[in-house]
Amino acid sequence: MKNKVFLKNVLTLVLVFSSLLVFGQAKPNVVILATGGTIAGAGTSATGSEYVSGQVKIEAMIDAVPNIRDLANLKGEQLSNVGSQDMSVAIWLDLANRINTLLAGDDVDGIVITHGTDTQEETAYFLNLTVKSDKPVVLTGSMRPSTALSAEGPLNLYNAVAVAASPLSKGYGVMVAMNDEIHSAKDVRKMITTPVQTFQSPQEGMLGTVIFGQVEYFHKPLGRHTTNSEFSIEGITELPRVDIVYACADMSPDLIDMMVKAGAKGIVIAGVGDGNMNAGTLEAAKKAADNGIWVVRASRVPIGKVLIKGEVNDKEYGTLCSDELNPQKARVLLMLAMLKKRNWDEMQRLFIDY
Ligand code: ASP
Repeated sequence: MKNKVFLKNVLTLVLVFSSLLVFGQAKPNVVILATGGTIAGAGTSATGSEYVSGQVKIEAMIDAVPNIRDLANLKGEQLSNVGSQDMSVAIWLDLANRINTLLAGDDVDGIVITHGTDTQEETAYFLNLTVKSDKPVVLTGSMRPSTALSAEGPLNLYNAVAVAASPLSKGYGVMVAMNDEIHSAKDVRKMITTPVQTFQSPQEGMLGTVIFGQVEYFHKPLGRHTTNSEFSIEGITELPRVDIVYACADMSPDLIDMMVKAGAKGIVIAGVGDGNMNAGTLEAAKKAADNGIWVVRASRVPIGKVLIKGEVNDKEYGTLCSDELNPQKARVLLMLAMLKKRNWDEMQRLFIDY
C-alpha cells in the first residue's frame, strides 16, 4: 500500500515536471532591452505633470505588469536609462549590435525595446535599416510616467511583448506598439505632444492592432527593411554628422553656411510645403552640394511626399529629395547612406527604396 502511494506521488511529480517543461519550452523567448523614457519615469504626484524620465529599472517594470510572464519567457537588459531627447548615435549602435547578436541565436524569438516617445520613431527607423533578422523587434513607451494616475506603460509593455512573441509578427520589420496599435518604423510619427494616442501613421495607416495581447495585422509594410536592407553597421563606431534646419518665411540663408562651418557633412532642410525654401537658401544649398555636402529637401508639413521634380529640380541643384521620409528619418537614412561613397543617382534611389 505504502509503495503504491509512493509510486503515485512519483508519477504525479514526473507529470507535473514534464508538463512544466513542455509548457516552458512552448513559450517564446523574448528579451526586453530598456533604454529609459517616460515609461520608466517617475514623479512625486499621481496627478501632476512634472516627472523625470528614466528612473525605474527594467526588472521593476516587468514585475509591475500582471500576467506578462504568461506570454513569453522574459529576460530584461538595461541598455541605458535616458529620456529619449538624450538618445544618441552611440546608443543606437549599441542597440543594433546587441539585437543582431541576440537574434542570431536560436534561443531568442523576439525583442522589445522600452524607449522614450520623443525620438522613438528615429530609433525604430534606424533599427529597421540595420537589424539583420526577420524576427520581431518592437518598440514601446508611454506618455504618462509610471507614477501617474492611469499610467499606460504596463499595458503597452504587455502588448509589445505579445507582438514580439506572436508568430504572426515575423517579417514585418521593426515596429512600434503603443495605445493598442501596431505601426511600422517607416510610417510612424509622433503626432501630438502629450496625449496617449501620440503615435500615428497618418499617410499609410497602422499595420494592425494589439488588444490585451491579441495581435491582428491588416497589411504588411512597404519599403525595404531588415533582412532586405543593404546597410550594415558592422565595425562602425560613429556616423557622419548630419544636421537639420527648419525653413520658414524669410529664412536666413547663412544658416546653411554656419552648419557646414560647424562640421556638418550632410544637411536636411525641413522645407516649407513640398520641400521648398527661399531663393537665397536654395543657392546656399547648391553651393554646399557643389562642395561635397549632401543636402536633402524634406518638409516641415507632417504628411505627404516631397517630389523630385516639383518647384525644385534636385538633379540640377545637386540636392536630394526625401520622398516619404520626414526630416528626422531622412537624417537617419542620410547618415547611414554616407558610410559608403555613392553618386547622386545612387543616393536618390535610397530615399525612394527605404
Ligand atoms: N521626454 C520623454 C522621452 O522621450 C517623453 C516620453 O517618453 O514620452 O523620453
